[in-house]
Amino acid sequence: MSVFDHPEFAEHEHVSFYHDKETGLKAIIAVHNTNLGPGLGGCRMFNYANSEDALTDVLRLSKGMTYKAAMAGLKQGGGKAVIFGDPRKDKTPEMMKAMGRFVDTFKGQYITAEDSGIAVSDICLMGESTEHVSGTFSKYSFDGSLADGNPAPATAYGVFVGIKAAVQHVFQSDLRGKKIAIKGIGHVGIRLAEHLSREGAILYVADIFPDGVNKAVAEFGATEVDVADIDSLDVDVFAPCALGNAINAQNIHSIKARIIAGAANNQLASSSIGEELTQRGILYAPDYVINAGGIIDIYHQRTDSNADKLRKHLNQIGETLTTIFAESDKSGHATAKVADKLAELKFK
Ligand code: NAD
Repeated sequence: MSVFDHPEFAEHEHVSFYHDKETGLKAIIAVHNTNLGPGLGGCRMFNYANSEDALTDVLRLSKGMTYKAAMAGLKQGGGKAVIFGDPRKDKTPEMMKAMGRFVDTFKGQYITAEDSGIAVSDICLMGESTEHVSGTFSKYSFDGSLADGNPAPATAYGVFVGIKAAVQHVFQSDLRGKKIAIKGIGHVGIRLAEHLSREGAILYVADIFPDGVNKAVAEFGATEVDVADIDSLDVDVFAPCALGNAINAQNIHSIKARIIAGAANNQLASSSIGEELTQRGILYAPDYVINAGGIIDIYHQRTDSNADKLRKHLNQIGETLTTIFAESDKSGHATAKVADKLAELKFK
């Protein structure tokens, strides 16, 4: 199938395929839209079953980055890169340097960063061949803690701010005594748990691995829940912080939470799920709005900014969501659809 006929093709500006014979690198970079600025987005390495799957991923993810950057108020567009291969077996330093050369061919219209399968050290290797890399250092953090380039603390703080805005909208209250279920206690989930517990929320946590769950139980008084039960728990907020497709045809009818607000990307299996949530009176915080803390952090590290400006920018996630919720109430449209429309007004 050609790129232009692909179902995920959405007026992308530039899609490029690259093969480096010496290192075996096979990669695709897609820049979706640069009206607001260069396309920023992570580089993912994954053992794709075929090139069709890789193309689908890079087209969908790069488009998502345009919407995320626009709604976060960044002078930045959307782009993404994918590398074919198993990051544990196939990755070599030479391959990462070759990837840097590929990134450089975009002359700054694509800026790369970490994503699944790609570590900060890999981005540093790419940085030997191109200056168009990000997320390799931090000048400051939003809360004064030691900054190490990891965007997860900023992402978690943004999700926390977003959950507060959603709870305020639905219950007209703060987080004290609110029951919140977190699915996925990884880099973001554990930090989110800390913020929420500090504000008096009652936490329920589930993960396929025990480390994060044990920490949340020991340090934040969370209750451990079976992974199979977390989606349908009788709580006020369900926070998906694991993988995509968290809300789907299989679980939508068993969700009891009044609010869905978490860090995971691509939470809704389809746009009709978003409509259904609205019809069922469940408030959904659009994923790319609430989880934009990481990209906001990277943006501030790249520009002339400071910790105070970064924190203020992260707090705006709550204000943006409040605007989306109000517009959804007024129009009856799903929050995800309202967010898309507002983003398009900014970048189109
Ligand atoms: P992570 O890999 O550190 O954590 C994800 C956790 O989810 C892991 O502990 C994993 O064991 C768990 N998990 C996986 N499948 C699960 C399942 N079926 N049920 C329960 N738990 C499961 O990733 P992260 O950095 O914490 O990111 C979490 C989510 O937020 C991801 O979807 C990511 O794409 C998204 N996100 C992260 C950032 C960031 O700055 N890290 C930014 C934007 C979006």
